[in-house]
Parts: sequence; structure tokens; C-alpha cells
Amino acid sequence: MNIIFFGPPAAGKGTQARIIEEKYGLKQLSTGDMLRAEISVGSELGLAAKKIMDRGELVSDEIVIGMIAKRIDSPACAKGAIFDGFPRTVPQADALEKMLAERGKKIDIVMELEVDQDMLVARIEKRAAEEGRSDDNIDALKVRLEQYNDYSAKVLPYYAAKGEVHKIDGKKAINEVTAQIEAILQPEAEARAAG
Ligand code: AMP
Repeated sequence: MNIIFFGPPAAGKGTQARIIEEKYGLKQLSTGDMLRAEISVGSELGLAAKKIMDRGELVSDEIVIGMIAKRIDSPACAKGAIFDGFPRTVPQADALEKMLAERGKKIDIVMELEVDQDMLVARIEKRAAEEGRSDDNIDALKVRLEQYNDYSAKVLPYYAAKGEVHKIDGKKAINEVTAQIEAILQPEAEARAAG
């Protein structure tokens, strides 16, 4: 079962993905986390990406597609993946579709976590204090929100044309958001278990 989580920065995609990955044996693939891991080891890719990420802009399709391609065949992804923060452009969505089709797979469920803008600002400020992410500041957030509005306007219709995009109320408490997500995942998981 392959799932995409859409949603603006600090919508709760990572939090929910980590809960769902454990419960359903799926693997969270977050391109943002992968990039931050590259930065923390000081790789060339990380150094180049950091400058772009700190401005809140998108790194190249080539880089993020390459990072996903490197992981898609890992045993941890055998039962499926939760794509978190990927795809963010139509070329990324095309590349993902091709990668999955070559393996006889597809995206099964697309969800969009919806959160109000003022709530996002509050969450980003809290996360900045807790995690110290260098792109969690108001200037970068503004750009990241603009990027999100821009790319979701292109990528969401891409998936809407293929099937339903499930809207999740991301303003609720963490466990209530998880419950909404599970209400969509559970029937799909049961259908799979029944073969
Ligand atoms: P995130 O953790 O998903 O909020 O991503 C943090 C930053 O990493 C973004 O603001 C981008 O600079 C970069 N990034 C993460 N995923 C992608 C992607 N799929 N395409 C381009 N840039 C990305």
C-alpha cells in the first residue's frame, strides 16, 4: 500500500507518517528528512541543499527523485511506503509513477492534511524552539507556504484526475487526525489482507 501525504509545512505529515508506518508496517519516505540527514553528515549534496532549504525554496527534482529511487527497493518498503513531502512537482509525480509502475505498483491513497495558516505559524514557532530547524523561521516559512500553494495547485489536480484526494482535518489533536487517516487506510488494508 503506497500513500502520499500532502500538506503545508508543519501540517503534521511527519508526525502522522511515523504513527502510521509502525501500525501498518509501511516505510515513511520523507525527502526533507533525507536532505536534513545529508546536511548533518556534511555531504556535498547536503551543503548544496542547505542553502536552498534555508531560503524555503525547492531543491532540484533530480536530487529528490534520486533519493527516492535509492530507497524504493529497500526491504523496509516491501509492504509499501508513505511519501511525505514528495512529490512536490509534476516531474517528481511522473518519476514516482514510473518507478512504481516498473515494479507493478502504484499510489493507492492520496491524503491532504488541511491546516489554517495562523495555526501553521504557531506550530512552526514551537518546532523552531524544540528542534532548531534552520528553515523554521517566518521568512523561510512564507516562501515555503508560497511554494506549497504553488505546487499543490499543480500536483493535487494531477492526483485528483487519477482518483480521490482524501481531505483530512489537520487542525484537530494528533490522535483525532490519526483516526481520520485510519478510517481511510483500514478498509484498504483489510481489502489487501483478504486478497
Ligand atoms: P520538508 O521537511 O518536507 O518541509 O522539506 C524541507 C525542505 O527540503 C523544503 O523546503 C525543500 O527545500 C526541501 N525539499 C524536501 N522535499 C522536497 C521535494 N520533494 N522537492 C524539492 N525540495 C524538497
